[in-house]
Amino acid sequence: MAKLTIRDLNVRGKRVFLRVDYNVPLVEKDGQMVITDDTRIRETLPTLRFLIEQGGRLILTAHLGRPKGQRESSMSLRPVAGRLADLLGCPVNFADDCVGEKVESLAGELPPGGVLLLENVRYHQAEEKNDPAFAGQLARLADVYVNDAFGAAHRAHASTEGVARIVAARGGQCAAGLLMERELKFLGDELENPARPFVVILGGAKVSDKIKVIDRLLEKADTILIGGAMAYTFRLAHGEKVGKSLVEPDHTGTALAAEEKAKKLGVNFQLPTDTVIATPVDTGKVNKKGRPVFEFVDVRTTKTGIPDDAEGFSIGEETAANYARIIHGAKTILWNGPMGMFEDARFAPGTNAVAQAVAEATQKNGAKSIIGGGDSVKAINNINLGDQVTFMSTGGGASLEFLEGAVLPGVAALSDK
Ligand code: ADP
Ligand code: MG
Repeated sequence: MAKLTIRDLNVRGKRVFLRVDYNVPLVEKDGQMVITDDTRIRETLPTLRFLIEQGGRLILTAHLGRPKGQRESSMSLRPVAGRLADLLGCPVNFADDCVGEKVESLAGELPPGGVLLLENVRYHQAEEKNDPAFAGQLARLADVYVNDAFGAAHRAHASTEGVARIVAARGGQCAAGLLMERELKFLGDELENPARPFVVILGGAKVSDKIKVIDRLLEKADTILIGGAMAYTFRLAHGEKVGKSLVEPDHTGTALAAEEKAKKLGVNFQLPTDTVIATPVDTGKVNKKGRPVFEFVDVRTTKTGIPDDAEGFSIGEETAANYARIIHGAKTILWNGPMGMFEDARFAPGTNAVAQAVAEATQKNGAKSIIGGGDSVKAINNINLGDQVTFMSTGGGASLEFLEGAVLPGVAALSDK
């Protein structure tokens, strides 16, 4: 069912309770917390400007970090208010709590087009418990509810779910912001009836993380291309040697079942035909978490099994070329999960080649390309191709759950059109 969006609302003079994702990275500098990346704040500007132009009175709620119900000064949203004011070019009031009489009167005093940012909603333990009384307190600030924090929509918290239910029960409207609207469009509607061929690229570390997505997309895709460490569990399931690679022996059955389903549904299901491997050597050092640090030497490519002393780190050149050829023929592309441990430059070429092919298919062939998953987005941004794909999800865990076909509580709570 399609959800109401802010384009469907009349917010003039109304208090718009707007849940945003301002979970930005901060570092301490001379005793002050400084924002190191304001992408998430910038991304909300279209929604804010739209609502300001319509004469809404905006009350913004967000969380920052994991203060676990305590007032942690290092996790205050105050620095965000300053940055937001700069970016919007208008004053942004800040309330040092998110509920209570003082906050209610600040919200009440807001003029049409005015903006008030509330302090970290997770300073209250009741937020993550979705406590009805706390949600009720939040709802006292709201005539209309808007959610633009897709990345938090998979959690049923007071600010993402409870408050919306209360507003709706009073007969108020609950709508998606512009960011949320795009996420629902590209991860939802566009994949429901994709232009064909529909090619799905799946990688990342674990089969167990992605099996639900594989299972659902097998029913929609024409081709599935597998990469990342996930491929080695498939290899192991076929009785091949995987050396010291990251595998999940408990999930070989899952892997075989997926291949079986692909065969039954006539999906072209491809595994890598070559692998970039290296030999791990214990450095004798330990990392911050107390785990041994390895160095990877003797980087090479194998087309057969992975030797006992070696570990697989990426798809090889042959696989990358084959995948690129298939991607060039696609009309819809969904990519979730890098093709290898791209954080190390020696293992990045396979992932980069796939990213390049996705960008080319989008730019030259008019394919629609949709990227889900935090690390996949990072991989694309690493080589500055972010603006050459159709859509990059901001959702992380929420994107994955949505792709699995799960109903996200923060989405379910929005009003139907
Ligand atoms: P996304 O965030 O896009 O959903 P995942 O979190 O599932 O992706 O997987 C990304 C991680 O998987 C990366 O940190 C990457 O280093 C790791 N990875 C991929 N291939 C391998 C491999 N062959 N060996 C070890 N780690 C890998
Ligand atoms: Mg990840």
